[in-house]
Amino acid sequence: METAATEPKVVSLTPAVFHLPEKVNAVSREYGRNPIVPRGPKFGPLLARVRRGLTDALGCSDTHESILLTGTGSTAMAAVLGSCLRPDERLLVIRNGAYGDRILEFARTLGQPVVDMELPYGVRPDLGAVEAALAGVDAVAMVHGGTSTCTLNPIAEVGALARKHGKKLLMDGVSTLFVEPVELDAWGVAAVMGSCNKGLHGHPNMTCALVRKDLLADMERVAPRAPNLELWKTWRAQEGGAHPYTIDAMSVLQVEAALEALADEGGVAGRHGIYNQRATLLRAGYEQLGLEIARYEGQPLQAIGTMLRIPPGASYAALAERLATRVVRGRVFEIYSAQGKLSKDFFRLFHMGEYPLEAYEVFLEALGACIA
Ligand SMILES: *Cc1c(COP(=O)(O)O)cnc(C)c1O
Repeated sequence: METAATEPKVVSLTPAVFHLPEKVNAVSREYGRNPIVPRGPKFGPLLARVRRGLTDALGCSDTHESILLTGTGSTAMAAVLGSCLRPDERLLVIRNGAYGDRILEFARTLGQPVVDMELPYGVRPDLGAVEAALAGVDAVAMVHGGTSTCTLNPIAEVGALARKHGKKLLMDGVSTLFVEPVELDAWGVAAVMGSCNKGLHGHPNMTCALVRKDLLADMERVAPRAPNLELWKTWRAQEGGAHPYTIDAMSVLQVEAALEALADEGGVAGRHGIYNQRATLLRAGYEQLGLEIARYEGQPLQAIGTMLRIPPGASYAALAERLATRVVRGRVFEIYSAQGKLSKDFFRLFHMGEYPLEAYEVFLEALGACIA
């Protein structure tokens, strides 16, 4: 259905629900006429194309296998933590944000022995401390893009230490895959918790894990703990052209369409460039408006968004309400609070999804009017 000409266009400045590529939207319009049966002849080849497309887009087809799962990034987190470690392996969790907290929570729920390296949100892990802690563990898990502070963790550096000491590195790449450059093999990443939503611009219902081939081979001998998220079992079924459980073929087609849209933009490098253009425009605009960008020493800003301090005397709720209701040049804007303990002082503005650069120029105008 077309938006009526009088209705404002909503621009989402949130990280999981935003406008998707026209190719993805076209799938849901067509699919009802021609559904794909998960055990029929079309499904196996589709699954193979999508799984290969994921690793090709990430440049890791020689070293890693992708496994497609129904769910969100958290599903991939549970799958990797529950499938890639033996129950007795000690896991170092480096956490400096909400998703590091989630890794710790999930690992503990699974009964994994953990060593908790807790840092204040956003603070760069000290590599000397990481190296010392690695001595007493078998594996290490860390978030790449810290979505709760919009900063990047030193994954290449931590990966080099993990490789030097022969430890498995599990990376949460939910907010960086397909939009930040990643070099899984060079960084020594054994397994990745992924997403087909955020950087790939698919719906938030399909996710993926990437597992290095040598680890995958070892996982055949790991006792299953993550019932329907068991990656080795799922990988084996997917290699045979099937999924062990019901999977929505329309969603798989949407992931394929999202991969095509990514390729149309020049792959990960092209999309990263588009996001950087938005980030450059917006961050200069925020500073011009006198807003303070949250920065942490040694931690580069993520390409997908920016955390800002709530201006003195302003309230996040009132700002969000004003931006969502006041129409500026035909548009309204939905913004995002900060997470947990940060939400009192900060808010976040993501610039993800299918919007022309001009939408962000209008946003700066709207933001200026709403904080004035
Ligand atoms: C979004 C995100 C997740 C997954 O969160 P869901 O609530 O499952 O969408 C995990 N890690 C990071 C870094 C994220 O940005």
